[in-house]
Amino acid sequence: MERVSDGKLHTAEERFEQSVRPARFDQFVGQARIKENLTIYIQAAMARGEPLDHMLLSGPPGLGKTTLAHIVANEMGARLRATSGPAIDKGGDLVGILTSLEAGDVLFIDEIHRLSRAVEEHLYSAMEDFRVDIIIDQGPSARTLNLELQRFTLIGATTREGLLSSPLRGRFGIYEKLAMYPWADLSSILQRTAQILEVAIEPTAAEIIARRSRGTPRVVNRFVRRIRDVAQVQGTDTITEAIAWEGLRMLGIDEAGLDELDRRILATLIRHGGEPVGLKTLAVSVSEEEETIEDVYEPYLIQEGFVAKTPRGRKAMESAFRHMQAQPADDSEPQKELF
Ligand code: ADP
Repeated sequence: MERVSDGKLHTAEERFEQSVRPARFDQFVGQARIKENLTIYIQAAMARGEPLDHMLLSGPPGLGKTTLAHIVANEMGARLRATSGPAIDKGGDLVGILTSLEAGDVLFIDEIHRLSRAVEEHLYSAMEDFRVDIIIDQGPSARTLNLELQRFTLIGATTREGLLSSPLRGRFGIYEKLAMYPWADLSSILQRTAQILEVAIEPTAAEIIARRSRGTPRVVNRFVRRIRDVAQVQGTDTITEAIAWEGLRMLGIDEAGLDELDRRILATLIRHGGEPVGLKTLAVSVSEEEETIEDVYEPYLIQEGFVAKTPRGRKAMESAFRHMQAQPADDSEPQKELF
């Protein structure tokens, strides 16, 4: 498995993300307070001639954690090394990465909550004292060697801040939580992406799409890319309102921005008549991983008031009943008049 990113872009999706990913704060839309905080911390660290404090970024997928890590490295004039929690399976792998860092480097660990405890423990002294212990030899001749590291900045990203151990969390000097974006911000992101893709978009079409992008830049970018295809096939280089609706319909997105799995989740909860349903039961009935439901689907359904999380499980709220009643039986036509 790839341990540290080789900087190459493997899939069309990755190449696309790279081409639209903002490289500087002034291109990063929204999240004003976070940008302001980070700008101050970066300025202060640079004035002191020190690397930035370790930073933890949390929030649902696609909100810009990786993008921010790259921007911070760019603004610091630092090199970024990227890896992820699941990619590091042994303590030795992490030690290898840490010892290869140069002074001022930024080490980005995505999904940092998925590091194993054994691996994580190596991070404690690395973050605090810029030292790591390595054990050389085995059996009776085994010795511990304490290695000094270059001063680096760790940026950890997590979709599940609650799963982080407190010793790890306590070692981050900077902690920022990303919130879902208002539709107007998503509309700006969409228009920037459309420009990069060289497709024009009517402002009303941008609003229609932005309002159905579950508060998430990655989603709005994915939609504009797919909807551009629809425009192309129809022989135009402008995304009009009609093309926006057609594209959303093809993507299975309804007027509330919910996709087919969202609707299956709501339908399952509704079948339980508004009584709480355990995550396991829910996952089995919609044939999806528990983690995906918790990380990807649930945050938006909760934020929009369709679902509530209770100690006994998830339950459908009034608006879920109303929304699902308004859906056509075959789920294929978006309900424009409800928008
Ligand atoms: P995360 O790491 O939180 O999953 P990413 O940083 O990979 O999310 O963001 C996904 C995509 O969304 C990026 O490729 C980037 O183009 C876009 N994006 C995220 N946040 C913003 C933003 N604030 N402004 C513009 N584009 C953004």
